[in-house]
Amino acid sequence: AVDVDGLERWLRLFASSVAEQQDTLTALDAAIGDADHGANMNRGMTAVVDALAATPADDPAALLKQTGMVLVRSVGGASGPLYGTFFLRMAPATGGASALEPEVFAKALRAGVEGVVSRGKAELGDKTMYDALAPAVDALDAALGAGDPLADALRAASAAADQGRDATIPLVARKGRASYLGDRSADHQDPGATSAALLIAAAAAAVA
Ligand code: ADP
Ligand code: MG
Ligand code: MG
Repeated sequence: AVDVDGLERWLRLFASSVAEQQDTLTALDAAIGDADHGANMNRGMTAVVDALAATPADDPAALLKQTGMVLVRSVGGASGPLYGTFFLRMAPATGGASALEPEVFAKALRAGVEGVVSRGKAELGDKTMYDALAPAVDALDAALGAGDPLADALRAASAAADQGRDATIPLVARKGRASYLGDRSADHQDPGATSAALLIAAAAAAVA
């Protein structure tokens, strides 16, 4: 089961992969946006990790809610409210449990992804973070439904997120700044789908 410590490991690992990949995320955003996705995500996740120490949370819901609030507050771009909403919507879906069974963790992840959609109105193929997140939660549910342990299911989810990220390359963006470029947004990997794949990879490495 996934407890506060597992979730903290996830957030810390995501923060460190964002820090490591900051220049890559920014370079992707320089091609089809405003060259700040790496800085936005690094600022947000640094603030999230700082908050872990400043105000430790006692249960998963409190930790996820705090994380979402910090992201909304500290990241100005589109990605702040979207990732913020992701964690804010995960929180109540935990049902207040102190240790989340695999199905509950998967349900919470799906609630987070649905929050991204309700906030940003992205559809599959719009060339956004949703193109990495949607196949990830689908693969997670499929693997858990087939009886796989959470660790294996999260690895399958991470592989699906990577595929979804790669599949954004040929797409023409229909949401966010990249959509202003029209057809010229094609042949570039979406920055938000790239950070979203890091988020799922971190879950696979840290949570189970
Ligand atoms: P900004 O575009 O405000 O500078 P960022 O560069 O931090 O913000 O984030 C850009 C990423 O946000 C995009 O690559 C895309 O994945 C994601 N994004 C933008 N708009 C939406 C949306 N409406 N729904 C889902 N994701 C979105
Ligand atoms: Mg940007
Ligand atoms: Mg910006």
